[in-house]
Amino acid sequence: MSFKDLQLNRPILRAVAEAGYDNPTLVQEKTIPFVLAKKDVIVSAQTGTGKTAAFALPILQQLFDKQEGSKKGKKIRALIISPTRELAIQINENFKKYSTYTNLRTTVVFGGASIEPQIDVLKKGVDILIATPGRLLDLHKQDIINLDYIETLVLDEADLMLDMGFIDDVKKIERLCTNEKQILLFSATIPFKVEQLANTILNTPERVEV
Ligand code: AMP
Repeated sequence: MSFKDLQLNRPILRAVAEAGYDNPTLVQEKTIPFVLAKKDVIVSAQTGTGKTAAFALPILQQLFDKQEGSKKGKKIRALIISPTRELAIQINENFKKYSTYTNLRTTVVFGGASIEPQIDVLKKGVDILIATPGRLLDLHKQDIINLDYIETLVLDEADLMLDMGFIDDVKKIERLCTNEKQILLFSATIPFKVEQLANTILNTPERVEV
């Protein structure tokens, strides 16, 4: 299977080609069609399988398709929650690489760093936000972030997120995203507590295991 077979459009195919990817990995092949079909998905995949592109590429595609013709101010339409700042930064770098030929804007916010530069970037408007839970809630409380327009919410490394004690934050963030939205849950393993979280917030999810 090729990336073209996955119905990705040209700006994204071009970025993928420039990244040097010849073909989709298994997790991409299985996940991308579900994401494009607007399904909720639980994906069990380890780091290194290409799982980041499995959500980043179809999210970019969806936002790119819908933005054409719209000249309104930017609203955050995709939110990716990551348990650690290192992973959040990595995810943002991936989004930047894959969005080179679109005019979609992405940024990352995380704790343990000065909040003002993050606020400055947010105020200019972004389409996609990658965040660690605490900093996201902090910025929301300060009214810097509006989560009312989120169309896709990604919970990355959900097992680690719960191990780190973020369960209540994650549930709160899900509730703050008031729009009807798609939720994608990625986890290396699916222990009972991840399953429970999925049962609480996902809507008849598809499942992908690699
Ligand atoms: P991840 O599992 O998302 O951390 O990705 C692991 C590595 O695989 C990253 O360095 C990606 O750039 C790379 N990668 C992702 N998709 C592909 C692909 N289709 N072909 C080759 N490499 C890829």
